[in-house]
Amino acid sequence: MPSARAWGRGVRGWLAEASDAVVSIFFPAACRICDQLLVRASRVRFCEDCMDSFEGPPEKKCGICGQGLAWMTVEEREPLVCRACKQKTYAFERARSYGVYEGPLVRAILLLKWERMEPLGDWFAGRLAEMVRQESGQLATDVVVPVPLHRDRERQRGYNQASLISKSLARKLGLPHKAVLLMRTRPRPDKQVLTLQERWESVRGAFATRPGSQVDNKRVLLVDDVMTLGRRLMHVRRRCWRRVRSLY
Ligand SMILES: [Zn+2]
Ligand SMILES: [Zn+2]
Repeated sequence: MPSARAWGRGVRGWLAEASDAVVSIFFPAACRICDQLLVRASRVRFCEDCMDSFEGPPEKKCGICGQGLAWMTVEEREPLVCRACKQKTYAFERARSYGVYEGPLVRAILLLKWERMEPLGDWFAGRLAEMVRQESGQLATDVVVPVPLHRDRERQRGYNQASLISKSLARKLGLPHKAVLLMRTRPRPDKQVLTLQERWESVRGAFATRPGSQVDNKRVLLVDDVMTLGRRLMHVRRRCWRRVRSLY
């Protein structure tokens, strides 16, 4: 016999599907990425072709920064570590990302960023939660923190896109979410596309721990929508963030 809770979940799932079906009959919608008409409604409003085209995390990756290392051949049993991580380039302990920022995934991230698609943030959080559970030893964490926007930028936009993911991720992992632990002291330049050099300059010394925050010896899971070669994290002061895990 299913438990009352499992039964409740089953009913809720069925109701959600039934209401999706009703919505798709009366309000046919197009995929937000490719404009193809959706056969069945989904909370994220992407068609199955687009969802399938998101490349998940690489199978063969650097054990520290998580970047794909498909080309690398190493002895069995030896953990894969990329050159940057061998040189201890980054200040974080581990970083993982859901997929490579290209193709339809770029459009999905832009929708998250500019149209406050909360169901999409929740969807990404679900994928990241799976990754954390799979590597629960390496990614064990005490608190989940979004990479902050500068307060002027957040006021303009009305929300921080990283929190759309981090809040839901914290809930799924049963961890505290601390949206104000970290602050951005300087806004990112207004230009839409930054060169690598400009990006580097824009993050140098731009983050600080909010005065009075208790972070000593806490394992922090830092969440952002896009990771640019992990560089921004190099500038988070090492002494404040002893044990940082990052997710993108
Ligand atoms: Zn599509
Ligand atoms: Zn690496």
